[in-house]
Amino acid sequence: LLARLKELARTDVLTGLLNRRAFDERLAEELDRARRTEEPFTLILGDIDHFKAINDRHGHAAGDAALSRIADLLIEQSRSIDAVARVGGEEFALILPGTDLERGVGAAERLRYALKRTTEHEALTMSFGVVEAPRHGRLPDDLLRKADRALYAAKAKGRDRTVTPGDVTAAAAPS
Ligand code: GH3
Ligand code: MG
Ligand code: MG
Repeated sequence: LLARLKELARTDVLTGLLNRRAFDERLAEELDRARRTEEPFTLILGDIDHFKAINDRHGHAAGDAALSRIADLLIEQSRSIDAVARVGGEEFALILPGTDLERGVGAAERLRYALKRTTEHEALTMSFGVVEAPRHGRLPDDLLRKADRALYAAKAKGRDRTVTPGDVTAAAAPS
């Protein structure tokens, strides 16, 4: 029972993905490991584009169902060693151990195209910010801030794209 309760405390109820707390724990662990071994990992932040419009057009329940389907797709497209989390309302995060930036961008692009191929919702797209650790940050907050800045830039550049810190110009970064 205790093990079950612990698992529930780490799980997002709607999607079955890791929740924010579990994600934060895993990120700290992976950073510790990366600092020790200098083996990189990739952090991907993804946010659904114009998700409010889905709710407005189809209702909140349909919005929830879409979140659940996207979660399934993220799991399908990931390896068992990856961490897949719902870290906000319509925001997801992935940790890809042993993955450098180039391969991390490839993974985000595969997710983006897999979502395009699903036809249940018309033109449901996502924007991604991708960073490599420990290169882009040796502390969780630094890494998350960089990834969030890249995601913000992806939105500013027109959404439905993947952005890395190298792509972020001063003009596109939030103040
Ligand atoms: P952007 O492309 O800039 O990300 O636009 P957006 O509409 O996705 O972003 P915004 O942050 O303005 O709105 C996010 C919306 O996501 C607000 C809310 O209606 C919806 N949302 C957040 N959490 C949930 C949820 O758990 N269920 C449902 N159905 N909708 C949610
Ligand atoms: Mg959004
Ligand atoms: Mg959002």
